[in-house]
Amino acid sequence: MRIIGMLGGMSWESTAEYYRLANELVRDRLGGVHSARILLDSMDFADMEELQSAGRWTEAGDLLAEKAAALEAAGAEMLILCTNTMHIVVDAIEQALTIPVLHIADATSSKVKQAGLKRIGLLGTAFTMEQAFYRDRLAATGLEVLVPDRADRATVHRVIYEELVRGVITEQSRAEYQAIIRRMVKAGAEGIILGCTEIELLVTADDSPIPIFPTTRIHVEAAVEKAVI
Ligand code: GLU
Repeated sequence: MRIIGMLGGMSWESTAEYYRLANELVRDRLGGVHSARILLDSMDFADMEELQSAGRWTEAGDLLAEKAAALEAAGAEMLILCTNTMHIVVDAIEQALTIPVLHIADATSSKVKQAGLKRIGLLGTAFTMEQAFYRDRLAATGLEVLVPDRADRATVHRVIYEELVRGVITEQSRAEYQAIIRRMVKAGAEGIILGCTEIELLVTADDSPIPIFPTTRIHVEAAVEKAVI
């Protein structure tokens, strides 16, 4: 079994899911008492949030590249960056490595296409919904990407930073996300990408009339697929 390098802590609420899911998937595939081989570097999210809100992306990229290189040096045979947003600096990370980086948007796009869908709604941080790095990556694979309107994007972003990364799950926010998903369906979405690794802690298939694509689960599945040989 290959060793999965996880660069996490962004936030730890979703990194804990990455860790749990990877172990469950390996157990399901190999049986017995098998579990995943993982090297995890879990950072203090406060440090990353400070760089994000100041737009200091080059520094963020340098920091993550350094951590990724340390995971490779420690024996990681592939790397997963356990956040959608920080794929904004994936090029800097890839340049620091010889092992492959499994891009969360590529894994997700494959699932969407396997489901036969094309017009897809994207929920995530404002960075993910509004900047080109993620939408263009999906579009390059042939998907048509819709995002919520300005007010709804602000709600989605606020709930992530003020609640989900702090471990706060509320019925009120779940209802707000349900309403936003319904508006995306009206706008023509055929499926919804939960493009922030914490959203699936709040939203499940029961909250959506159309298929959802939970990026944490999909990302872990792609890693385990490559790890079990
Ligand atoms: N985990 C989130 C994501 O998938 C947001 C936290 C972050 O900005 O890294 O985008």
